[in-house]
Amino acid sequence: METLNTNIFKNNLQKVQNIINEYKIRDDVKLIAVTKYVDSKTIRELFHLGVRDFGENRSQDLLYKQEELKDINDEINWHFIGRLQRRPVKTIINKIDTLQSLDRMSLVEEVDKRANHPISSFLQVNISGELQKAGFKPEELLDIVHEIEKYPNIKVIGLMTMTPYDANEVELRKYFSQMKLLQEQVQKLNLPYAPCHELSMGMSNDFKIAIEEGATIIRVGSALFK
Ligand SMILES: *Cc1c(COP(=O)(O)O)cnc(C)c1O
Repeated sequence: METLNTNIFKNNLQKVQNIINEYKIRDDVKLIAVTKYVDSKTIRELFHLGVRDFGENRSQDLLYKQEELKDINDEINWHFIGRLQRRPVKTIINKIDTLQSLDRMSLVEEVDKRANHPISSFLQVNISGELQKAGFKPEELLDIVHEIEKYPNIKVIGLMTMTPYDANEVELRKYFSQMKLLQEQVQKLNLPYAPCHELSMGMSNDFKIAIEEGATIIRVGSALFK
C-alpha cells in the first residue's frame, strides 16, 4: 500500500466527479472511493478533499484503518464490498454503514445473528453467471428476497453486481440493464424490509456505462489512484 500525492487525487477525483455530472440523468449518483489498495493516510487525504464514502473488501484492513482514523471515523461512511467470511462478521458488522456483498444465505443468517440493528445491505447478484463469481442467481433473487423477511436485522436497500473483467460494451449494457430490471422488480414488491431503491454497479473500467444504465452508486478504486 502506498501513499499518493494529493494533487494526483484532486485530479482523478475531479475527473470522476466530472463524469458523474456529465452522465447524471437522475438526482444523484454516489461515488464510493474504493480504498483497498491504499493506506489510511491516503484515505485521510481524500477525506480532506471532501470524500466521505469509502469501500473496503477485507475485514482486517477495515478494522485497522478505522483505528488509525478514529478521530474522523464518525464522519466516514464505510461500505464493505468484499467476500465476507462467517467468522469476522461479528467483529465488523456493527462498524459499517452498508454491506454491499450479501451473497449467500449462510451469510444472511450470520449477519442477522450478529447485528445489533438492521444492516443496510445489498444483495449481490451474479448477473453474468460466471462460475467463480459470488452472488445470488438472478432467477432465484425474488425467492431470496421473500425468504429474508425471516431475518429482521437485514434491510435490503439495493442490489450490487460486478461484471466480467473482459466484457465488451454490448455485454456490459445487457448485464447492467438486467440488473436495473431486477432492482425495479424487488422495489415494486413494496416490502418494508426491502425498499431496494439503490443499484450499486460500475467500477473504474465501466462506471460511465453503469451510470447510463441506471446505477445509483458506483465503486471506483484504481481510477482514483493512478
Ligand atoms: C476492487 C473493487 C472495486 C473497485 O475496482 P476498480 O476497478 O479498482 O475501480 C469495486 N467493487 C468491488 C467489489 C471491488 O472489489
